[in-house]
Amino acid sequence: MQSITLARRPSGAPVPQDFALTTGPIPQPSQGEIVVEVSHLSLDPYMRGRMDDVKSYAPSVNLGETMTGQGVGRVIASNAAGFEVGDLATGMTGWASHAALKATEARKLDTNLKPSLALGVLGMPGFTAWTGLRKYCRPQAGETLVIAAATGPVGAMVGQLAKAAGLRTIAIAGGAEKCAIAKEQFGFDEALDHRAYEDAGALRNALADVAPDGVDIYWENVAGKVLEAVMPLMNVGGRIPVCGMISWYGGAEESQDRLPSMWRSILVKRLHVSGLIIFDHWDDYPAFLAEVAPKVLSGEIKYLEDVAQGLAAAPEAFISMLKGGNTGKQIVAL
Ligand code: NDP
Repeated sequence: MQSITLARRPSGAPVPQDFALTTGPIPQPSQGEIVVEVSHLSLDPYMRGRMDDVKSYAPSVNLGETMTGQGVGRVIASNAAGFEVGDLATGMTGWASHAALKATEARKLDTNLKPSLALGVLGMPGFTAWTGLRKYCRPQAGETLVIAAATGPVGAMVGQLAKAAGLRTIAIAGGAEKCAIAKEQFGFDEALDHRAYEDAGALRNALADVAPDGVDIYWENVAGKVLEAVMPLMNVGGRIPVCGMISWYGGAEESQDRLPSMWRSILVKRLHVSGLIIFDHWDDYPAFLAEVAPKVLSGEIKYLEDVAQGLAAAPEAFISMLKGGNTGKQIVAL
């Protein structure tokens, strides 16, 4: 089997030398385990955090250890009730061609659905969007929502669900092509290219033009320049689910000078700022799947995937995704 391990901890943005391709024997299932031959691997922004040796809501990857991640694939050996050879399953396989999984931590997949959907639109990112909107946003028809990384699996789902709930949706995305996708495929009312504005002030002016009534919900995916642009446009009683801050994942410049005005905005505008970690909400996953899977199958909810070929391509695809090189959910097909 092959796996991609963490060769060294990145300083700032990861580079290919931070990863190593290693080979070893295919694992055997212990009692209560299954072994999966991975067909699709998910690459997600949170993995950047796992490469650092810092305390977080989940443990870091150790040096020499396989990079963490969710995969899907066929069961090739089972020593657990409920799974048979040939079943399609998903779990935390890591960046690897094969993985032994505890059956209690694996999930059997519906073979009527394309396997990769379990990693994106019907997996953790889509579920994050659905959960966050319901639990932290209190969306009302006529309100204005702004979200960056808008064509990614979280952003595209937030945008489509919000639009269906009658909100005015404004996408922020990197480049003209992604802005066109945001409007044409995902139905955003407006789309702004964050790369086209040299600073937060310029982006704010453009946002103010397309959000003349202010912003009621800012879904925080990226922080940095976008956060700085949106904050002064927030309406009283606005909601900010803090889902991610990808522009700072490689390290942020200290900007303590801006903290006082940020805190003042939260106070004066009575903003509801909520940390969102999807791992707290897995009990709701069956309800999400029951509601959203039929809409994906019917085409009512659209999704985009960006598929890299072969496990060895995973590091480059991951590095590129963190810089916006992906268009849609980043998957690796093995
Ligand atoms: P995406 O597939 O959207 O990939 C990340 C995107 O971030 C890039 O394509 C790029 O889009 C954008 N980006 C990168 N750097 C910047 C920057 N400096 N400024 C603005 N945009 C930038 O990722 P996901 O949909 O999987 O995840 C979106 C966010 O949600 C991430 O922050 C992730 O960590 C977070 N998340 C949090 C979860 C939780 O439980 N809290 C669960 C799942 C995701 P573009 O080119 O359009 O700028």
